[in-house]
Amino acid sequence: MTRDPRFDVLFEPVQIGPVTARNRFFQVPHCCGMGHLMPQSDAAMRSMKAEGGWAVVCTEQCSFSPLGEAAPYPETKLWDQDDVIRMRHWTDTVKAHGALAGTELINNGSALSNLYSREIPLGPSASPATYTYDPVQARAMDLDDIREFRRSHRDAVLRAVDAGFDLIYVYCAHDIALPMDFLSPRRNRRTDAYGGSFENRVRLLREVLEDTVETVNGSVAVGLRFATDELLGSDGITWEDEGCKVIELLADLPDLWDVNVSDWIHDSASSRFTSEGHQEPYIAFVKGMVKKPVVCVGRYTSPETMLSLITRGVADFVGCARPSIADPFIPRKIEEGRLDDIRECIGCNICVTGQHLKTPMRCTQNPTVGEEWRRGWHPEEIDPRGSDSSVLVVGAGPAGLECALALGRRGYRVGLAEATRELGGRVSDECTLPGLSEWARVRDYRTYQIEKLHEVVEVFRESEMTAETVLEAGYRHVAIATGSRWRKDGIGRWHTAAPVPGSDAPHVLTPNDIFAGTVPASPVVVFDDDHFYMGASLVEKLAGDGLEVILVTPAAVAAAWAEEALEQHGIQSNLVKIGVRIVTGHNLTRIDAGGVQVAGVYGEGERSIECASVVMVTSRLPNDALYYALKDAPDRLADAGIQSVSRIGDAVGPGLIAAAVWSGHRFARELDAPPPGDVPFKRELVFV
Ligand code: ADP
Ligand code: SF4
Repeated sequence: MTRDPRFDVLFEPVQIGPVTARNRFFQVPHCCGMGHLMPQSDAAMRSMKAEGGWAVVCTEQCSFSPLGEAAPYPETKLWDQDDVIRMRHWTDTVKAHGALAGTELINNGSALSNLYSREIPLGPSASPATYTYDPVQARAMDLDDIREFRRSHRDAVLRAVDAGFDLIYVYCAHDIALPMDFLSPRRNRRTDAYGGSFENRVRLLREVLEDTVETVNGSVAVGLRFATDELLGSDGITWEDEGCKVIELLADLPDLWDVNVSDWIHDSASSRFTSEGHQEPYIAFVKGMVKKPVVCVGRYTSPETMLSLITRGVADFVGCARPSIADPFIPRKIEEGRLDDIRECIGCNICVTGQHLKTPMRCTQNPTVGEEWRRGWHPEEIDPRGSDSSVLVVGAGPAGLECALALGRRGYRVGLAEATRELGGRVSDECTLPGLSEWARVRDYRTYQIEKLHEVVEVFRESEMTAETVLEAGYRHVAIATGSRWRKDGIGRWHTAAPVPGSDAPHVLTPNDIFAGTVPASPVVVFDDDHFYMGASLVEKLAGDGLEVILVTPAAVAAAWAEEALEQHGIQSNLVKIGVRIVTGHNLTRIDAGGVQVAGVYGEGERSIECASVVMVTSRLPNDALYYALKDAPDRLADAGIQSVSRIGDAVGPGLIAAAVWSGHRFARELDAPPPGDVPFKRELVFV
């Protein structure tokens, strides 16, 4: 197939100063949890995007001096020649596939704490670290510090050129970069030539940009990543005022404008809060003010909106971070007329949690991400089958669907048996929660792809399997993907041994009951000892259904773990907005007919909350009865010719949807492969 000519415009080359991008697909800088600690993993992940057709592929933010670093985050570094050698590997890997290599030099200013170098962070004014609660304060830079900062940035630019980068960014975005600290009236309280008036506050940004342009001297392109709006109203930069003034002042200086909103929570807002193109109101004005190419993001996942972004003249490049993680081959798929094969990002921000947890990022839609180097997983290629074996996959949730799909692509004969009429398992339930409709893509992408493999993958709906029917089904391998169910007894993190007294009463429900259509009596207490999205999402749903809802959680905030996905603040703000009563720092100690007893986790003593029903969101139990019924009957398995029975997904250990997808994918990759050693992947050992 070839591409639809309508999309030709997306494949036009674009000049960025002295270099030419082969098309308009641009992977903007994004972190990945690998960085300088796992450079080969990072490079291999980026190289997939270059191979997938992206014209520009950038590193994440790249610290250029120990005076401004991102520890404990494992960000890329260009501190000295040793780093140049490492980053040359990065640029070689990316450029081998015809992409331009970009990097985003940064000093995190007063945002972070220099935990590795132990240097006191730099800022325009004395200030506590702004991105963390680390007990660290930045010092106010004097004029010598500013001169020294500019010198070290110039030297870093030379190192970036030496390392082979085609595009070097000056960074003034996300409220985590020193030039933005200086620009911000909130952060800059200076009274010298670098503080006070707009001209003074923008001085450092202008100087650093001029230094960079002068230093590269036309050898490579210079980009400016600039946050036009902080979404803080008059408390911050707004696009109508100083955002616009910066563009006007610096319009011709950089070769490329990369514009977005600040901070990261807003820039990478999840699909719960924003939809495609959500940044356009704040950046659309830029193209009219500059002659240089403009790139912007907005979680553009569909070729149609990408096309519209360009044809409406909003930007010259389609900037993507998350869409390029979910599908590194978007450009190639558009090029080849395979739009239906695009694995669209669902906006769940599980990728973001990798950065916060300092581990290789995971993706709900793309199980191969982070595994490109250490396990050799390619997002679009998979080994042909290792035998003429056949596999029965039991359960068509995310684990079973991904498993059947990947096995089918390998060429195995696969049966996918699902108890219900609908495929998708928990995804089909959870995508009905407020704001989570895009999550259905996990199911829909796989269901559609499996249909295309109908010659090898047979789907059996309404087929609840028992040990007997599995034994009779005639497959050589069995993958049990039967998922999990929420506990009703309250056992979880706070109640570890004994159930919550009264939890066996009929007015105590679980999320499974709600998804099955049970309407709890109002008022309802939702007890959240799970701490991710389920508790708060159910609260929002039930409140939306007109019930009076009280959220009780032992954590200090609602949906505590959602912080890792940049969602906690938005989730709790939503609950406050809709008038939900939130009782934090309290554990559920007893359930009675007309209410519950709760006790403060800091010893505040017990009190009661009146309610007519309770929903327990504490932990889940794997549905593993079928697995054990088969595993515990080895003679019957042998008689039936079944060589292996395995569990995948939530049936092993209930967790993220991303983990279930990954688990199903792993099973498919490893079938008939040599047994992995004790450490089933390559490691990047620092000391060898
Ligand atoms: P995971 O996240 O691991 O994929 P889910 O709970 O989303 O798990 O999906 C499990 C799926 O397995 C559900 O669609 C469920 O209906 C199905 N299932 C559970 N038990 C059986 C069974 N015995 N036979 C067939 N399908 C089953
Ligand atoms: Fe998109 Fe979620 Fe994958 Fe991130 S983890 S790229 S938000 S699908």
